[in-house]
Amino acid sequence: MHDIPISKPSIGSREIAYVTDAVTSGWVSSLGGYITQFEQKFAEFCGVKHAVATSNGTVALHLALVALGAGAGDEVIVPDLTFVATANAVVHAGATPVFVDVDPVNFCIDPNAIVKAITPRTKGIIPVHVYGYPANMPEIMRIASEHGLFVLEDAAEAHGAKFAGKAIGSWGDAAAFSFYGNKIITTGEGGCVTTDDSELLERLLYLRDHAMSRERRYWHTEIGFNYRMTNLQAALGVAQLERIGDFILERDTILSWYRHCLERSASSGLSLNPVGADANPVCWMVCLSHADWDYATRDAFILALKRQGIDSRPFFHPVSDFPMYSQACTPNAHRAARRGVNLPCFIGITENEVENICGAVLRIIRMNGAPFA
Ligand SMILES: *Cc1c(COP(=O)(O)O)cnc(C)c1O
Repeated sequence: MHDIPISKPSIGSREIAYVTDAVTSGWVSSLGGYITQFEQKFAEFCGVKHAVATSNGTVALHLALVALGAGAGDEVIVPDLTFVATANAVVHAGATPVFVDVDPVNFCIDPNAIVKAITPRTKGIIPVHVYGYPANMPEIMRIASEHGLFVLEDAAEAHGAKFAGKAIGSWGDAAAFSFYGNKIITTGEGGCVTTDDSELLERLLYLRDHAMSRERRYWHTEIGFNYRMTNLQAALGVAQLERIGDFILERDTILSWYRHCLERSASSGLSLNPVGADANPVCWMVCLSHADWDYATRDAFILALKRQGIDSRPFFHPVSDFPMYSQACTPNAHRAARRGVNLPCFIGITENEVENICGAVLRIIRMNGAPFA
């Protein structure tokens, strides 16, 4: 039996046609029609005026932070349960990440924890729509405007998600997306910043391209970056964007197969991706949590699945646990981290495969006896 991967991109004939077209056109770097098309279409998809394509999602966060004015002496509030890039980007901008706890049910930043973490040095908030579930944006925007803070959404995992009917990526002052190979759509490597603010747009474009003066070529007035996306990547992205609606629906269907097979076992302490009244999540990852798991039992479970040819991955570690950051008191993030695994979810996985995975999940849990009993 071949291994079932946790994730893989869906590359169709249109992707190949557009990338071939981009390569043969000679526009292989960051000028070219696919870049403009991709930026326009992605902005439209998010319901915002502007999208600025970048070389990856991490630099999209960094670029947005610098453009929003985060720097030395500033604190930026981030959730403790996220991919490390969220916090690293804050440090790269010269500011300090302040880790706060997450909601115990939906794993996104807890608005009450944000309020408690605000100091005179706080400059902004980065809510993360973790695993495709949208953070409570109305509440976060209210807190931010009350305290004069910027909001930068980390939407790297949530293309197409909505909160109260409004698209993720259109709530904050800006949002950063990733198009890494395992994200909802991919450009290989790639990212972008979305915004409605045309002044911020100018800053983003300028900083993305070495802060070159618009009036005087090769005259630089600040230390900028080369964070441009290539036309080749954008060609892939345009093809993926044409399919994004189908991708999101198919991921929902895949999650419903998991729910059908596993949720009858809810009494055994298992739970899947959160649901909420105002939230329209996308299923970036299938999230399986077990109330009784600690790191050791969870990791043993991952190993047992692997032996059956099924790939899975642990939830993110709380970022404040890493040696370069200082410990934060975030019990919900820690509890979620040790209880969670992501199970395979990708375009093309079959219902039969999902049933087999669920069968293996339940078998392993039963076999291990207490605390799995
Ligand atoms: C993937 C991801 C990023 C970084 O994106 P890259 O394109 O891999 O640099 C940032 N934040 C979160 C939450 C992510 O999942």
